[in-house]
Amino acid sequence: MLPPIAQGQKTPKLTACIAAVAIAISSIPAQAQQAKGPSVLRDTETEQLLRDYTRPILRVAGLEKQNIQVVIINDSVFNAFVADGHRIFVNYGALMQSATPNQIIGVLAHETGHLAGGHLAKLHAQLAQAQTQMIIAMLLGAGAIVAGGRSGNSNGGLANAGAAALSAPGEVIRHTLLAYQRQQEENADLAGVKFLTATGQSPKGMYDTFKRFSDESLFAAHGADPYLQSHPMAPERVAALEGLARSSPYWDKKDDPALQLRHDMMRAKISAFMEREDTVYRRYPLSDTSLPARYAHAIATYRHGDLRSALAQIDGLIQVQPANPYFYELRGQALLEGGKPAEAIVPLRKAVQLSNNAPLIEMLLGQALVATDNKAYTDEAIAILRAAVTRETEAPLGFTQLAMAYGKKGDFAEADLASAQAAYLRGDNKTARDLAARAKTRFAIGTPGWVKADDIVVAKPPAGQKSN
Ligand SMILES: [Zn+2]
Repeated sequence: MLPPIAQGQKTPKLTACIAAVAIAISSIPAQAQQAKGPSVLRDTETEQLLRDYTRPILRVAGLEKQNIQVVIINDSVFNAFVADGHRIFVNYGALMQSATPNQIIGVLAHETGHLAGGHLAKLHAQLAQAQTQMIIAMLLGAGAIVAGGRSGNSNGGLANAGAAALSAPGEVIRHTLLAYQRQQEENADLAGVKFLTATGQSPKGMYDTFKRFSDESLFAAHGADPYLQSHPMAPERVAALEGLARSSPYWDKKDDPALQLRHDMMRAKISAFMEREDTVYRRYPLSDTSLPARYAHAIATYRHGDLRSALAQIDGLIQVQPANPYFYELRGQALLEGGKPAEAIVPLRKAVQLSNNAPLIEMLLGQALVATDNKAYTDEAIAILRAAVTRETEAPLGFTQLAMAYGKKGDFAEADLASAQAAYLRGDNKTARDLAARAKTRFAIGTPGWVKADDIVVAKPPAGQKSN
C-alpha cells in the first residue's frame, strides 16, 4: 500500500461537480466541502478486489466499456458516492465496516445504479429548474407585495403571502431537491437489486447495510453522518428495499469462501496500515492465528516494530500462499522502507511477476532499483518506470522515481519533465509549470519531451475545476 496522497488533480473535479449543486445542502459528501481534496489510497490488492467486485455489476448495467473506476478515499468514516459519472468513491471506512463481500458489493451496486441512471446529470438539470422556480417565486412574491402596497391595508393577506414567498425560496428548493434525491435513491436501490439478481448475487448485504444506517439515523443528530447525507435512508425507502430484496431468488446465497478470505485479508491490511497499533491488535489479537490476523500482525510489526521479526512473519505468510504477489510486495516494501533497497529487489521482482506487472508494484521495484545507488540498475529502473507510468497515469510515485533515475544519469531535461509530471499529479500546478518551463529550455524545440513539457506549461485546470 502506498502512503496516502492528496490527489489534487482529480479530487477538485469531485469538489467542483458537487460544489455546483452545493445548494442541495444535504447531498454534499463531507469531503467535498473541504477546501483541499481528500487524499486517496492506492493499493494493488485492494483495487484488484474492488475491480473483481464491480466488474460483473458494471457489465449487467451496460457500463463495462466506460472504464469506471473505484477510488478509495483515505477516510475512516463509512461513505460511498459518485461524483463525476466515471468513478465510484468509497471511503476505506466502508470497506472496514463491511464484514462480507456481499455487503460492500451491495453498496457498489447501489452506486452503479446512480451511474447507470445518470443521476448526477439529472441533479444538475433539477437544480437549474429549482433555480428557475426560485426566481419565479421571488418575482411572484415581489409582485404580491407591490399589489398589497397599492391597495393599502385592504389586501394585507396577499402582502403577507408575498413576504412568505420571499423568505421561502431556499426552503422550497431544499424540499424540491430532497424529494428528488429520495426518488433517485429509490431508483438506485431498484437498479442495484436488479444488477445483483442479474449477476446471481444476494441483495441481503445491501439491505443489511442500508437498514443499519436507517436505524442509526433515528438516533443520530440530524445530518451527522456523511453516508446518510449523501444517501437519505427514509424508513419507507428501506421498507420498499426489504420487500424487493427478500423476493430475490438469491436472498440466502452466501459469499464464496475464497472471496470472503480475500475480503478479510483486505480489511486486515487496511487496518494494519491505517489504524493505530493498539487498534490493530484489538481487532486482531495475537491469539488469533488466522491468515488475516497474521497478515495484520506482520504489517503492524514492520510499521511499528522490528524489521527482522516482520520479515520472519512475512516468510510464514509466503509459506501458506506461495503465489500471493502481495506477500512479496509487502516483503519488498518492508525492506525498502527499512533502508535495504538492494534486498527489496528480489521480492519485488517476484511480486511484479506474480501480479502480471501491476504498475504500482513496478513503481516500488523502480524505487528500490533507484535507491540502491548502483548505476547498473538505472537503465532498468527507467524502462520499468516508463512502462508503469504509461499504464498507471495517476500515481505521482512513478514520475518521482523516474525523475531520480534520470537525475542519476545526468539527463536533467527528462528529470525536470518527470518532476513536473509528478507535481501535476499531486495537484501542485505552480511547481509543475515552473519545472516544465525549465524542462522546455533543456529539450530541443519540438522534440517529444519539449511537447510534453509545453503541454504542462499551457495546461488549464480540468473543466470541472474552473468554477473553483
Ligand atoms: Zn444513493
